[in-house]
Amino acid sequence: MVKAKIAVNGYGTIGKRVADAVRAQDDMEVIGISKTKPNYEAAVAHQLGYDIYAPAANLGAFEKAGMPAAGTIEEMVEKADLVVDCTPGGVGEGNKPMYEKAGVKAIWQGGEDHSLAGFSFNAICNYEQAVGRDLVRVVSCNTTALCRAIYPIDKELGVKKVRVILARRATDPNDVKKGPINAIVPDPIKLPSHHGPDVKSVLPQINITSAALKIPTTLMHVHTVNMEVDKDCTVEDIKNIYGSQPRVRLVGQGMSSTAEIMEFARDMRRPRNDMWENCIWPESITVQDKELYFFQAVHQESIVVPENVDAIRAMMELESDGAKSIEKTNKAIGLYNK
Ligand code: NAD
Repeated sequence: MVKAKIAVNGYGTIGKRVADAVRAQDDMEVIGISKTKPNYEAAVAHQLGYDIYAPAANLGAFEKAGMPAAGTIEEMVEKADLVVDCTPGGVGEGNKPMYEKAGVKAIWQGGEDHSLAGFSFNAICNYEQAVGRDLVRVVSCNTTALCRAIYPIDKELGVKKVRVILARRATDPNDVKKGPINAIVPDPIKLPSHHGPDVKSVLPQINITSAALKIPTTLMHVHTVNMEVDKDCTVEDIKNIYGSQPRVRLVGQGMSSTAEIMEFARDMRRPRNDMWENCIWPESITVQDKELYFFQAVHQESIVVPENVDAIRAMMELESDGAKSIEKTNKAIGLYNK
């Protein structure tokens, strides 16, 4: 089988995980990753056998550090069928002309605006609409989790409205520039937050508003979700709906915090402790007069990773059925041990 040639531009929190997840698939391969500097992350990429590409001005620094680059970022892009842009939010936009010049397909992440790609993706919600597309944005960690939580309830019960409070991790565990932190920050202070409208970039029919607080933790986000639905339902109905979802995990067995969920991921020997699923606490699921409530935890570093793989498969027309792609991606990365 000829594999789709994938380049990962920006090898940070999301990029390194996307590269490994693409590598685990049998229908796509990583032809290169980009690093701006020859730091410890570049050294590991080199050890893992990835071809590293760098800005032309920094090629000498890579040579000097004993990890010669395979070429410039432009050269990497030229060799690819599709580039997954994992550069920091706002930087990816500036790469669009380079992708257009090379005639490659491109995926951006949630830090970019919907208008950049004109299509925002979540595998269970709109996989089929991404088939054959040239430009796609995989939505942010929070939006991914909300889409996965709202879509199946809307399908089964009809969603009238959604209200969400997000307790957001202050920054990622390796990010010393934004820490140490000791405050609770309404973010943004002006209500509602942008998270609700961002869900509408995937599910335009959903009536949703949100508020967000940044809190001093790096592990995960936690959402307090409230949905008003059209049909009568029970707690058991909600558990059954979520229990059948391929990327939702009902976390019980004494896990009462994000710290224990991360420990569970370590114990399962997940790569980098990744928890790709929405983690919903079953004890929190409450139903009152066609309104349901629950808490879910979101591992911001990894939740979008399988979504990127599915977006590639759809755009490259490697699979037309979303459910099949989700199953294939999950199996290849090890997301099957419910
Ligand atoms: P990051 O800062 O961890 O990684 C970005 C990488 O890109 C770094 O290695 C940086 O050196 C490199 N880079 C910077 N400028 C570059 C350039 N011009 N060319 C090539 N490489 C360049 O960022 P991240 O957290 O991985 O975020 C990437 C994207 O994913 C953003 O859009 C972000 O909003 C989104 N996202 C992040 C998270 C998260 O929690 N970290 C979750 C979901 C989505």
